[in-house]
Amino acid sequence: MDLKGCKIYTALFPCNECTKAIIQSGITEVIYLSDKYSSTDTARASRLMLDKAGVTCRQVKASFGTLVLSFNEADV
Ligand SMILES: [Zn+2]
Repeated sequence: MDLKGCKIYTALFPCNECTKAIIQSGITEVIYLSDKYSSTDTARASRLMLDKAGVTCRQVKASFGTLVLSFNEADV
């Protein structure tokens, strides 16, 4: 599937293996919730690859701390 110009939303900043797939897919923006492994070599490599590929990365800023999804049919 052609994902050129698409955005990807992730819980964690992507690892180096996911980063390769993201770049190859044509995705142009990564929006992540947490970068808690930012000091690891994997995260540094990911950031470097994304920067060189011109992929924009930004951390999501939510005004709320929790979002609950219900899969209970009675709540629909
Ligand atoms: Zn990964």
